[in-house]
Amino acid sequence: MALEAPRKNIVIVGTSVLMSSLHTCTSQHKANPSSSFTGGGIIGCTTAYFLTRHPLYSPATHKITILEATSIAAGASGKAGGLLALWAYPACIVPLSYRLHEELAKEHDGAKRWGYRQIYCGSVDCTGKVRERKGGKGVVADGEGREWNKLPKTKGGSIKKGRGDVPSDLDWLDGDTVKEYSVMGTPDTTAQVHPLLFTTSMADLAVSSGASIVLGKVTSINSSSSSVQSVTYTEKATQEVKTLEATDVIISAGPWTSKVFPAAPIEAMRAHSVVIKAEVAPYAIFSEIALPKGFNRTGGQGVETRRHGLSVSPEMYARPDGTVYACGMCCVLSSHSTYREFG
Ligand SMILES: Cc1cc2nc3c(=O)[nH]c(=O)nc-3n(C[C@H](O)[C@H](O)[C@H](O)COP(=O)(O)OP(=O)(O)OC[C@H]3O[C@@H](n4cnc5c(N)ncnc54)[C@H](O)[C@@H]3O)c2cc1C
Repeated sequence: MALEAPRKNIVIVGTSVLMSSLHTCTSQHKANPSSSFTGGGIIGCTTAYFLTRHPLYSPATHKITILEATSIAAGASGKAGGLLALWAYPACIVPLSYRLHEELAKEHDGAKRWGYRQIYCGSVDCTGKVRERKGGKGVVADGEGREWNKLPKTKGGSIKKGRGDVPSDLDWLDGDTVKEYSVMGTPDTTAQVHPLLFTTSMADLAVSSGASIVLGKVTSINSSSSSVQSVTYTEKATQEVKTLEATDVIISAGPWTSKVFPAAPIEAMRAHSVVIKAEVAPYAIFSEIALPKGFNRTGGQGVETRRHGLSVSPEMYARPDGTVYACGMCCVLSSHSTYREFG
């Protein structure tokens, strides 16, 4: 009579542990593994997805749990740009990632489900222009953001020739301001997803194959001298402290990883993004914009005055859902800096 192997609980905390946990699951824990994932970002959710697609996976013998403090894709995974490029870095993983995205989109109708599409990409060097606001002097914002909600489309043909190779269908650059345009990618080398929709879809697909999601903040990973035993977390809905048995833990808590696993050398980087309603041509644009003199140094009523450098360099990606996503990197946070704490 065959002995029944013990069930396994795997907790994912951080990407560095990811590969060893996958290896552990596939080669050593062939029977009854249970996996718990800490962090419901793109790493945790895609890991859960791919584990549920593994030939040795069976919901009868494997328990996979995504433990997420806030909500699926609450961190960078829900706010990222979602640009995919064969010309991105690191070169050792980019071709695999790019191909996987293409395959996943084909298999699960990613075009409809998470906005997967091939896209043009370029970089533009231009001079910023202060737009005149209806009934007022040229200002940057109206205090309630109304004028900023819509990106103006430039009328066909308004982009002047001789200013680099600005494509004629790129309808959302003011040609008068462009100093130089260069092609970075074409639909053969560049694509995009809507990261929030992609991450939540991966979670949904993992759940439909037997994984489960628990909303709770992990406070400790408990181990014996030889192996991990359990994960303690505070359940979001009840604030009760609970413990989940774990045979394997995969940490995927993004910049919070070192809070649950201090040995992980993961730094946080601050970045901000906005999403603007606008139906524009499918381009991702990396920009360098020289700001007009005095830009935003004098705010109108209720407008906060800000001091910028002499130029800004937002990345802007048109999305198929009639929006444009824009983001800019800020700085690496030191260990003394604060960033949003999950509670
Ligand atoms: C502005 C911006 C733009 C970007 N653009 C792109 C892009 O175009 N293309 C690209 O490939 N990448 C891009 N990135 C990078 C990409 O978003 C990240 O590399 C990726 O989302 C990281 O995913 P993650 O799962 O590791 O972490 P996260 O998305 O940070 O997920 C971590 C999760 O862990 C949870 N968590 C934290 N602590 C705990 C705890 N104690 N217990 C339980 N759960 C916890 C959080 O709630 C969060 O949901 C961008 C990033 C930013 C910030």
